[in-house]
Amino acid sequence: MGSHDDWLGIYDSAVGGGVDLAALSCPNCAHRALKLVYVYYDDGYAPDRGTAALWCDSCLMGITVGRVRFLGGYPRVLSEKSRRADGGPIPNFEIVIPE
Ligand SMILES: [Zn+2]
Repeated sequence: MGSHDDWLGIYDSAVGGGVDLAALSCPNCAHRALKLVYVYYDDGYAPDRGTAALWCDSCLMGITVGRVRFLGGYPRVLSEKSRRADGGPIPNFEIVIPE
């Protein structure tokens, strides 16, 4: 199973390393089904910052990274509408925590 560091490495590659997320494999199940969506909050405070959700749409594992600047042109979604249950893109995935 992929560690939290493995997931963070994918995040870093996808947002700052010039690597296409679609070309990267899930550290857990090895499928190329990784998704990255930025969640922002309707507080008018920092529209270019929020939480990154990175997950695998195949095994539904992943991480969230808080207080990040939005980089890499990934989709942004308002927090209240971010979950699939609310019509958003983010499923209820299992978060890999640091060891
Ligand atoms: Zn997976």
